[in-house]
Amino acid sequence: MRILIIEDENKTAAYLMKGLAENGFIVDAAADGNAGLSLTDDYDYDLVILDVMLPGRDGWEVLSEFRRKGKTTPVLFLTARDSVQDRVKGLELGADDYLVKPFAFSELLARVRTVLRRGPVRQPDVLRIADLEIDLLAHKASRGGIKLDLTPKEFSLLALLVRKSDEVLSRALIADQVWGMNFESDTNVVDVAVRRLRTKVDDPFGKKLIKTVRGVGYVIEND
Ligand code: CA
Repeated sequence: MRILIIEDENKTAAYLMKGLAENGFIVDAAADGNAGLSLTDDYDYDLVILDVMLPGRDGWEVLSEFRRKGKTTPVLFLTARDSVQDRVKGLELGADDYLVKPFAFSELLARVRTVLRRGPVRQPDVLRIADLEIDLLAHKASRGGIKLDLTPKEFSLLALLVRKSDEVLSRALIADQVWGMNFESDTNVVDVAVRRLRTKVDDPFGKKLIKTVRGVGYVIEND
C-alpha cells in the first residue's frame, strides 16, 4: 500500500513517514501542493494525507484539483483548527476523512486503516480464501481459526496476494507494491520474503495456498 503525505512541516512529515513505514506502508512525501499533485500523476497511491495549511496552493485547492482530475484515491486531511466549517468544507471538496492537529500517531494509523479499508471502491473488511482469513481493518490473518504471527511486511505481502488472487504477480510488481523498490533492485528480497511467509501461512497446514509460477512470480488461487 502506497501513501503520499503532502505536508510542509518537515518534522511532521518525517514523523509520519517513519511511523507509516514501520507499519508496512510505502510512503512518499511532498512539501507543497504542486509537488504532491505531480507525484499523484506518476504513482498510483492508495491514500493521500493532505495538510490544509500549505505554502502556495493550500490543501483545499490541491484537493479540488485532485478531484477535478478524476482521481478517486481517498484523501485524509489534516487541519489545525477544529472547526465544523473546516470539516464540512473538506468533506464537500471530496476528502474522505480528517484529523485535527495535534494527534497521536495511533489515531492517525487507525484513521488511515479505516480509510484504506473503504478504498475508492468499497472493499470488504475481511477477505477469505480457503481457510485463510485476512482482516484488513484489524491487520490480522488466520488460517483455520489459528492466528498467524506476521510482520507488517509479511501482512502486506499476503494481503496483496489475496486482494489480487488469481492474478500471477511478478516479483517486480510485488517489490514495488510491498517495498517500494523498482525492478532494478534485488528482487531476491521477494523470494526470501515469500519463503518466510510460507513457513507461517503454508507449512503448518495441509493445503498450500501460495503457488510459484516459474519464471513469472507468485499467485494465490481461489478454487
Ligand atoms: Ca502545514
